[in-house]
Amino acid sequence: MTTPDGHGGGTAGFPAADPFSSAGAFPLPSTLSHAVTGARYWLPPQAALAPSAAPAPPPVAFDVEAVRREFPQLHREVNGRPLVWLDNGATTLKPRQVTEAVGEHYARDTSNVHRGAHALARQATQVYEEGREEAAKLLRTRDTGEVVFVRGTTEAVNLVAQSWGRANLGVGDEILVSTAEHHSNLVPWQLIAAERRARVVPIPLLPDGRLDQDAYRDLLGNKTRLVALTHASNTLGTVPPVAEMTALAHRWGARVLVDGAQAVCHFPVDVTELDADFYAFSGHKVFAPTGIGVLYGKREVLEAMPPWQGGGNMIDSVSFGRTSYAPLPHRLEAGTGHIAGVAGLRAALRYLGSLDREAATAYEERLTAYATRALSAVPGIRLLGTAPGKIGVLTFLVAGADPMELAGLLDRQGIAVRAGHHCAQPALAAYGVTSAVRASLAVYNTAREVDALASALYEAVGV
Ligand code: PLP
Repeated sequence: MTTPDGHGGGTAGFPAADPFSSAGAFPLPSTLSHAVTGARYWLPPQAALAPSAAPAPPPVAFDVEAVRREFPQLHREVNGRPLVWLDNGATTLKPRQVTEAVGEHYARDTSNVHRGAHALARQATQVYEEGREEAAKLLRTRDTGEVVFVRGTTEAVNLVAQSWGRANLGVGDEILVSTAEHHSNLVPWQLIAAERRARVVPIPLLPDGRLDQDAYRDLLGNKTRLVALTHASNTLGTVPPVAEMTALAHRWGARVLVDGAQAVCHFPVDVTELDADFYAFSGHKVFAPTGIGVLYGKREVLEAMPPWQGGGNMIDSVSFGRTSYAPLPHRLEAGTGHIAGVAGLRAALRYLGSLDREAATAYEERLTAYATRALSAVPGIRLLGTAPGKIGVLTFLVAGADPMELAGLLDRQGIAVRAGHHCAQPALAAYGVTSAVRASLAVYNTAREVDALASALYEAVGV
């Protein structure tokens, strides 16, 4: 069995040498070649569509095997086969630095933060606040008061919807939400819209998964209060031109919330450059533990928001007559936070910071192009989302194959993918489907693993 790139496949699956070990050795499809310029989210859609005439950039050295050594789970077997983890959109694996940090917190350093008069409380507080500094660095804000710890992206969006939304939305106001959103950047808006008698209005998709910019311009107006946008779609992989869309929204006085859940681990993010009012991400999708995430908000916007939840940590003083609140970010962080989670997040972001991000992003772009080419050649396959500059999310259907059964078949070969609606039913509905298979890549995946997937799919279709 031979994969489309001529590498030996078969059941064990892997060619002896990874084609990525000699970066630049294989050509990219022309529609994807611009992706390696590193400028993807500044490209206007038309330019992004045109095949690049520019010469290919020089290969960027990236030692994927060194990265893989830090992730113990990559070295286990599943169903008697080496694990091929292609479910990174659901959650990423954890480097040993993260599991050690969490383990140490519980084994040696357990303490609450911000309220103890003892050494371990001071130590835990320091780790906690350093975690906040790392998150601020990741998003490129200097103000740690703009970094609010939450459980994850879902809680971040709910916080904004319930606090900012309740204070700022009224009858007939409009919230524009892209059709590519994960349910967690749609349902919270539906809930608050119902309460405030506001309207949620979809921004439609083009057939390749880009957001329809003409329609977006037409939808914006003086009723628009907020635009909810993904920075990278978990189902289609689309990376919308967020900075441009934000600038347009601001012309109408609307706020913009960007869901960065699938973005932060794939490419560098700069909230100042995007000029986003809110930006959310989940730790577990960027090598950190579950249950910890970040809501970024512009200081002036967060300061004008009423507290969402009340309780410990978020107050200045309390009496039955009058309660006043702590300064940002604590005002929006009621109760004991996920202290071990922040220790893990700190370790994860330090780990990410230790990588050459430019080389890592370029590597992932090449791997995505390689995977797109490999999967496109599988007979009967239909890829959903082929927008230029997309992240390594490959959602597909194979003619005559049930997505769940296909995922089960891959699982038997140790290949973990996701099948179903991917919590993005409107995005799938735009393609007339309700379920699909999704293989999602991360920086530690290899062309060998893509070959294993392609090989298993060839087998599934009986080639
Ligand atoms: N947004 C996107 C784009 C996602 O992919 C996900 C999770 O898959 C979420 C939001 C929700 O993240 P969480 O469940 O960590 O809150």
